[in-house]
Amino acid sequence: MARFIFITGGVVSSLGKGLMAASLAALLQARGFKVRIRKFDPYLNVDPGTMSPYQHGEVYVTDDGAETDLDLGHYERFTGVSARQTDNVTSGRIYQQIITRERRGDYLGATVQVIPHVTDAIKEFALAETGDLDFVLCEIGGTVGDIESLPFVEAIRQLRNDLGRDQTVFVHVTLVPFIAAAGELKTKPTQHSVKELTSLGVQPDVLVCRCEHPLPDAERAKIAAFCNVRKEAVIPALDAKSIYEVPLQYHAENLDFEVLRAFGITPGLAPDLRRWHDIVDRLHHPEGEVTVGVVGKYVGLPDAYKSLNEALVHGGMANRVKVNIQWIDAELFEAPESDVAARLEPLHAILVPGAFGERGAEGKIQAIRFARERKVPFFGICFGMQMACVEGARNLAGIAQASSTEFGPTEEPVVGIIEEWMSAEGRQKREAGGDLGGTMRLGAYEAVLAGNSHAAAIYGGTRITERHRHRWEVNTAYRERLETSGLTFSGMSPDGELPEIVERPDHPWFVGVQFHPELKSKPFDPHPLFAGFIEAALRQSRLV
Ligand code: GLN
Repeated sequence: MARFIFITGGVVSSLGKGLMAASLAALLQARGFKVRIRKFDPYLNVDPGTMSPYQHGEVYVTDDGAETDLDLGHYERFTGVSARQTDNVTSGRIYQQIITRERRGDYLGATVQVIPHVTDAIKEFALAETGDLDFVLCEIGGTVGDIESLPFVEAIRQLRNDLGRDQTVFVHVTLVPFIAAAGELKTKPTQHSVKELTSLGVQPDVLVCRCEHPLPDAERAKIAAFCNVRKEAVIPALDAKSIYEVPLQYHAENLDFEVLRAFGITPGLAPDLRRWHDIVDRLHHPEGEVTVGVVGKYVGLPDAYKSLNEALVHGGMANRVKVNIQWIDAELFEAPESDVAARLEPLHAILVPGAFGERGAEGKIQAIRFARERKVPFFGICFGMQMACVEGARNLAGIAQASSTEFGPTEEPVVGIIEEWMSAEGRQKREAGGDLGGTMRLGAYEAVLAGNSHAAAIYGGTRITERHRHRWEVNTAYRERLETSGLTFSGMSPDGELPEIVERPDHPWFVGVQFHPELKSKPFDPHPLFAGFIEAALRQSRLV
């Protein structure tokens, strides 16, 4: 039976609980254990799919079409284990399920309550499909003491009773702030946080203390004494230069060792961390440098493009170069006095990422035009591919009014909504004007690539599977005119109805994809499109 590691956070949010969970899972994996990580999100949205990236960062999409928290991206990048729908649950989804059951009469006249009904549903979620695993790591979003997270803390308290002491470990992540005026690290917030947690019946076994300065032995002993945790199980966590160093740092601080000890397991051989050393070495010893401009919309918040940022870093690792990313607000190019060329000329490659809505679209189209005309490597992802088609239609195919129906009615819907499409489960349908939540083309879909295409050369094959998250599609009614003007449709859905990849054979590297390749890139296995894009940027850097 699987063992469970429950991870909570205290004092403040943004302590890197998700990275801690991903790192611990990677360390256990490196010791030969089979792991899976799950996330409980206490908010009331059914999933993060309808939230603005400014609220909650990127929405991470799984193969099975779930719109999930961005921490699942870290989990997948660090462990290589594909996340599933069942790995992320919100209070909203739990309540939705309970209320549906209640309306159906499933509770047979009982009063439906937080305990036991909500807590039981949470426990069911934690335990589902875990039979073949050694460790399940469950991270609770938010901070201990939040009203919203109470049922989750109660559920993990009960799980310790249900499963037993040797099957469950509680890890609590807190902050040990440095007070400059006193020149000291302060342990009191950690003490309060643990007090709060124990008042809910959960005594942590391991404490992970985020701090900006090394934690002196005396402070460590003090935390241990006040929080009722062994001193060795108080793990200091200093800020790392790169997230890919975090597993190595935690290992150096004995996190994996202490967690195994808390289960009563005597750790065997040291974990095999060669692949982590290799990627950190690639990061620290680059042999060159490229600068990529990302012309997007949510550029004020790096979390909005989390996976994209990482995939570009992976592309750099593949080529042993440092990738400098310049986040450029597409709206800048819409001002009449803006000098697009001056802003974009210093860049070695241009990427237009996914987006929703019209704001910034014209600026992106200008950036695409620049990349096409100046033969600068260009990568368009989802909305970026759609705008590459609009750009080509307007400026090369002579369709001056070309647009997307996402922006309102248009005479020339080069990008249009589709109401029916095929998935592995059969025909999918949606109504224009229907619900926004969960109604996109979501998750893994196959595509077939033309044998002689650039895309097939990049992938090294002609059948691919990639993750999607979009409502609009490039309209095949325009295919012939776009192709005649130089934009080839080199990847299509297996039924030939939906464009998946477009490219320009007369350009050194111009690729647009309807899916999100960044979601599948891993540091150990950089996505071929990102490896290829950065390679093209490197060639470009030698020209300018
Ligand atoms: N807004 C576009 C659509 O829904 C593109 C979505 C995206 O880039 N993820 O089709």
